[in-house]
Amino acid sequence: MTLKMPQPEAAVLARRAAIVAALRRIVPGEGVIADPDGLRPFESDGLTAYRQPPMVVVLPETTEQVSQVLRWCHDEGVKVVPRGSGTSLSGGALPLADGVLLGLSKFNRVLEVDYDDRLAVVQPGVTNLAVTQAVEARGFYYAPDPSSQIACSIGGNVAENSGGVHCLKYGLTTNNVLGVELVMMDGEIVRLGGRHLDAAGLDLLGVVVGSEGLLGVVTEVTVRILPKPEGARALLIGFPSVESAGQCVADVIAGGIIPAGMEMMDRLAIEAAEAFVKVGYPLDVDALLIVELDGVGAECDHLIDEVTRIAEANGSTTLSASRDEAERLAFWAGRKAAFPAVGRISPDYYCMDGTIPRRRLPDVLERMAQLSAKYGLGVANVFHAGDGNLHPLILYDANKPGELDRAEAFGSDILRLCVEVGGVLTGEHGVGVEKRDLMPDMFGEEDLAQQQRVKCAFDPKGLLNPGKVFPTLHRCAELGRMHIHRGQVPHPDLPRF
Ligand SMILES: Cc1cc2nc3c(=O)[nH]c(=O)nc-3n(C[C@H](O)[C@H](O)[C@H](O)COP(=O)(O)OP(=O)(O)OC[C@H]3O[C@@H](n4cnc5c(N)ncnc54)[C@H](O)[C@@H]3O)c2cc1C
Repeated sequence: MTLKMPQPEAAVLARRAAIVAALRRIVPGEGVIADPDGLRPFESDGLTAYRQPPMVVVLPETTEQVSQVLRWCHDEGVKVVPRGSGTSLSGGALPLADGVLLGLSKFNRVLEVDYDDRLAVVQPGVTNLAVTQAVEARGFYYAPDPSSQIACSIGGNVAENSGGVHCLKYGLTTNNVLGVELVMMDGEIVRLGGRHLDAAGLDLLGVVVGSEGLLGVVTEVTVRILPKPEGARALLIGFPSVESAGQCVADVIAGGIIPAGMEMMDRLAIEAAEAFVKVGYPLDVDALLIVELDGVGAECDHLIDEVTRIAEANGSTTLSASRDEAERLAFWAGRKAAFPAVGRISPDYYCMDGTIPRRRLPDVLERMAQLSAKYGLGVANVFHAGDGNLHPLILYDANKPGELDRAEAFGSDILRLCVEVGGVLTGEHGVGVEKRDLMPDMFGEEDLAQQQRVKCAFDPKGLLNPGKVFPTLHRCAELGRMHIHRGQVPHPDLPRF
């Protein structure tokens, strides 16, 4: 682990017993966990290479409790890390040794469903899938569908602006959230957005979605719900090269077709998935596309014909169209199981997340193959091909000395490559700690300073999830946004790293 986090403050650690007692007064009963065994399940999120037990875990049940916890921590100078389900793959919910881990898992109720206005009001600890489950009996669903949807929370989705297979057509979390209730670090409770699109005032909702727990704690979310499409069919298309598959993706979009999902897998990912789920994926192709078309029956059939024509024009060598729901689900089964399937062919894998312009895909894959040879580590690729979001899975063995470091260096090079070809460091997993030190590869100093000024406007003391996203922890005073009274810089002891 080479990552540097802010140094724990000895003065805060020395007050641990008093901090725990104060939090217990706000959240009585079992809502405060302070014993070492109880803290262990919270020591990491989905980025398990990094672990740090928190100083204390607090599991409030009401917005008022969240507000009181934050206000107390604000007044006492104690850091807070929000946590939903802990599935972040970028270490966004990694605890701090001298920080409170504020878990939202008890906020697990669907508060209201309004079918007329097509929205649901939910607490942040509700899982992504549970939102759809709450409305599916009436033929509705919540569109953004991260692969982790069975476990990840809506609050975490808001914080990470999560995406999934269906986001190509239906948008990311930011396009499907109408409003939030947010508790600021000083305890103030605010509402951003509302029950309809385009609320009055500055688009602060847009600022908060994707802010990775750095600006406030989300305690309620209003999401759009959509009527389920009447039908959906999928195509499974094999190509002799990644280039031809990439060109097919570009031609489908250029042809004015927006599939409900368009996913690509490379040879290693296809082999691993087929060995695992045995759904009949072709093994003699270099790239496999799964294209889903949804809508009314005749529209689906027409689009299936159109995409078939485009695929054949690009030299596809195998093509099957799903004839019923069971076959459609079978086509998806391999893609959905791609991560665990890769887990069977390698002791460990490191899942990266970057985005590139679609047309650069063949280029990037070739450079990735060169990097794979350079680092001596295999890589399997699955992509949200429609929106250029790559998920290279770097294969390594954590028990072999140095392999994790090599995997991380390989991953960093892939992300730099994404930026170099005109893409971005993250598609949907966030920056967290994982990509924090790569931010200067993408943003200039002034860009980063401006972003931190936004952070200062919400959290001038820098107590909310510090050490994440920004490579350097600036004092807000340095950024010219904190009031300096008689030359006294507030919190001169704020650690730099
Ligand atoms: C197997 C697997 C597959 C995945 N697939 C996808 C995918 O397809 N698409 C995708 O986008 N992601 C995916 N992820 C990543 C992850 O599931 C998402 O980032 C998810 O949104 C995290 O939600 P969470 O509740 O687990 O949040 P956590 O991991 O608990 O926290 C994530 C971040 O959100 C902040 N946060 C959490 N709750 C709140 C809140 N209420 N208020 C303020 N800040 C908060 C935390 O501080 C942290 O910075 C995957 C992860 C795994 C393990």
